[in-house]
Amino acid sequence: MKKAVILGGGESGVGAAVLAKVQHYDTFLSDSGTLKEPFRKQLEKWEIPFEEGGHSAEKVLSADLVIKSPGIPETAPLVVRLREQGTPVISEIEFAGYYDTARKICITGSNGKTTTTSLIYYLLQNAGLNVGLGGNIGKSYAMQVATEKHDIYVLELSSFQLDGMYDFKADIAVLMNITPDHLDRYDHCFQNYINAKFRITRNMKPEDCFIFCNDDEVTIGELNKIVVQAKKLPFTQNGTVDEGAWIEDDTMRVRYDGDEFDILVRDLALEGRHNVYNSMAAAITGKIMKVTNETIRKSLTTFEGVEHRMEKVMTVGGVLYINDSKATNVNSTWYALESVQTPIVLILGGTDKGNDYAPIADLVREKVKAIVCLGVDNKKIKDFFGGMVPVCETLSAEECVNKCAELAVPGDTVLLSPCCASFDLFKNYEDRGRQFKEAVRRL
Ligand code: ADP
Repeated sequence: MKKAVILGGGESGVGAAVLAKVQHYDTFLSDSGTLKEPFRKQLEKWEIPFEEGGHSAEKVLSADLVIKSPGIPETAPLVVRLREQGTPVISEIEFAGYYDTARKICITGSNGKTTTTSLIYYLLQNAGLNVGLGGNIGKSYAMQVATEKHDIYVLELSSFQLDGMYDFKADIAVLMNITPDHLDRYDHCFQNYINAKFRITRNMKPEDCFIFCNDDEVTIGELNKIVVQAKKLPFTQNGTVDEGAWIEDDTMRVRYDGDEFDILVRDLALEGRHNVYNSMAAAITGKIMKVTNETIRKSLTTFEGVEHRMEKVMTVGGVLYINDSKATNVNSTWYALESVQTPIVLILGGTDKGNDYAPIADLVREKVKAIVCLGVDNKKIKDFFGGMVPVCETLSAEECVNKCAELAVPGDTVLLSPCCASFDLFKNYEDRGRQFKEAVRRL
């Protein structure tokens, strides 16, 4: 019996462990931290041995196959030793792919992954297809392969998941955009991160489809250097393309395999320029999957969006409050600012991942009347924006929202789109978004 060791006991690790067990591996899971209760219960239910609070090196190093959580970096000492001795170290997605013959639609990018993945899933469900949702979102893909049966999977893939993928092949790959992010995990080398994103096209054949943003210079630069076997389907908001998606006047048009779909941009349920891209990617996927134009239209006009992404919370005293807590980098905040058409009180701050604020300077000058910081160390924000707009500091969601309410007048928008991670004051971006919404409801 081959030995599989799973490193990391979160959603993906436990799913991978269950699949390994079902596939008759001698399975062991090891986590350096504490397992969350539901995950521990699942391991017990499936009679999978595990350890917490550290890895016993001997056990891990004796594995025939190691499935590593995307959160564990390549530089972790045990991973280095496994690589040195030639043990395969792969991701949960790679592993599940070995046992799955379903059609796989995979989405990556620096921003827009969750929104586009959820929209594509919604669209395929509306078409009545037997489709599973997984990857970085929802239930583990490996768990579904072990215990459910779907004809199609829609998988959101982060660069860390892609790093652990070798033989996996997407039938449809979607690359939304590439902007600098997570460079701490890529030796501060942007090209390494670009290479990770392009792993989504690995092993693709001419009958597969690669959907990408023609307006993204980084993507186009890379496509000029490498060969992608799959059929290329670009989407653009500048000019037209033969096949793919583009804008003509106020209409989004899609063409695939001689067949067309169009919809007025103002009818799209998701607002903002970034969401036009997301809707384009979903519509092209719909056409490839032979979903009817009627179902594509219905899906794009009724999709309710995903929590914490440009989520309209409510209007209080004529001021609209928007929760975009998931905007943890400058690029996503750029799109948020671009999409709001009123004066803005902008909430910025948190854990800075090495931000360069220059790309949003013009939009801040044009639209933002005040910046309210929600973070512990706001020096960089104050230094950069202090000369442009008034900047003040707050240390809790409640204090922050109250301050914004003071500064805003009817017709304004209060926008939480912080450019930063949330770990200085909150558990995560969801916690930050929820506390923000609760504070707004208490106004
Ligand atoms: P991801 O899963 O890649 O982090 P999300 O869909 O969760 O992407 O969105 C993250 C942030 O980026 C949100 O603030 C959202 O409004 C913004 N966003 C969504 N789609 C795009 C896009 N295509 N380009 C840039 N920003 C986007």
